Amino acid sequence: MSSHIWCHGTNCHKSRTQDRVRGSKGSKVLRTRKVKQDEWNTGDRRSMYSYFCSNGCYNDFANKHIERVIAIEPRTEPLETPVDVVKEKVTSRWNTDHTYVETRITRVDNT
Ligand SMILES: [Zn+2]
Repeated sequence: MSSHIWCHGTNCHKSRTQDRVRGSKGSKVLRTRKVKQDEWNTGDRRSMYSYFCSNGCYNDFANKHIERVIAIEPRTEPLETPVDVVKEKVTSRWNTDHTYVETRITRVDNT
């Protein structure tokens, strides 16, 4: 397995940072960054950081290909999570003359 993957950001090679500059005087270029593959972004830890050097590069890629990305798993109806909502009147610990309503939303595990 290669020890790196080239960043998939569509504009990675256009960001003007010193670490992207390659070549000799008179023929310098901005080059796509390498994304190091190590124990933090391979195997079970594979994530966007396995393929992109930054959130900006991930966003550029996702925005360019958004229609194809959404087509992978279209959302035609909302998802729902069963919850309990409990409202409780609470007296402030710092000012006992002050009360407020605390709302607790807890997930109902109906598996
Ligand atoms: Zn990048």
